[in-house]
Amino acid sequence: MSDLLHRTGERRVEELSAPVDWGVELSRLVPNQPLLVEVSLEGASGGVYASGKAVAVAEHACHRCNATWQETIEVPLGEMIESSRDADYPLDGEVADLENPVRDAVVLALPLLPTCRPDCLGLCGRCGADLNTGACPGHDEDSSSPFAGLRELLEP
Ligand SMILES: [Zn+2]
Ligand SMILES: [Zn+2]
Repeated sequence: MSDLLHRTGERRVEELSAPVDWGVELSRLVPNQPLLVEVSLEGASGGVYASGKAVAVAEHACHRCNATWQETIEVPLGEMIESSRDADYPLDGEVADLENPVRDAVVLALPLLPTCRPDCLGLCGRCGADLNTGACPGHDEDSSSPFAGLRELLEP
């Protein structure tokens, strides 16, 4: 690695396999899929510039209807690993630790509120049925649903 401090244009492919706490609830990386990091490390004044991309398979849960789906995400990387200890991503001696900058870039690329499709109708607030499938029978006030009698028992 120390060579990279004095050389430019070297490209290497790293595969990060360390467990990472992504800190995201609705989207997560699929555990048995590798997070591939293809990065070019270039010596620059004050540190090493890491550029390239990270590729991972994410599983999202729709925040409206809870449907899950998987998606390959490709995240561009471009971060300075700096020799200053106060930097966001400091060099550890002569080692450029890519885990933190890669994790931050991937987490930023994950949607905060994943939506399975723009017009997702979500779940019925009353019976929990997926409104996208028309599974909810609708709820008239004097419903003939078997739950109507139950509701009368529960309501004074
Ligand atoms: Zn949905
Ligand atoms: Zn319903």
